[in-house]
Amino acid sequence: MSELITVDFRPDGRDIEPALRVKRRDYAGCQHHQTLVSEELRRVTCADCGELLDPVEVILLWAREWSRYADAVKYLRMEEEHKRRELAHLLRRMRNVRATIRRDLKREQERVRDRVNTSVGYREQARG
Ligand SMILES: [Zn+2]
Repeated sequence: MSELITVDFRPDGRDIEPALRVKRRDYAGCQHHQTLVSEELRRVTCADCGELLDPVEVILLWAREWSRYADAVKYLRMEEEHKRRELAHLLRRMRNVRATIRRDLKREQERVRDRVNTSVGYREQARG
């Protein structure tokens, strides 16, 4: 027989308070899209609002952006290859359709020529 054991990790049954609290950035304000790296002061600031930025955060942001960019380039290259194959397939089909049209046109011209020759032959026979 198993016995159900419940353990209450909350001291005195109260809610657990987080040891660290994070004060979120005010996203309604400046998004710090333009960064300025001061070679002289060895500081990274927002070029728009002047706020001092965390250099590691800026590096991580650029690393993520670069990763997204690399993924986008990879996807676009795959898409380009797919489109090239599609285009080659369409060009082959177009050449085949043109050849079919030329062949059918030639057959039709020969058929008309034969009819004309035949009817001319009948008329000549009739006159003759
Ligand atoms: Zn800013």
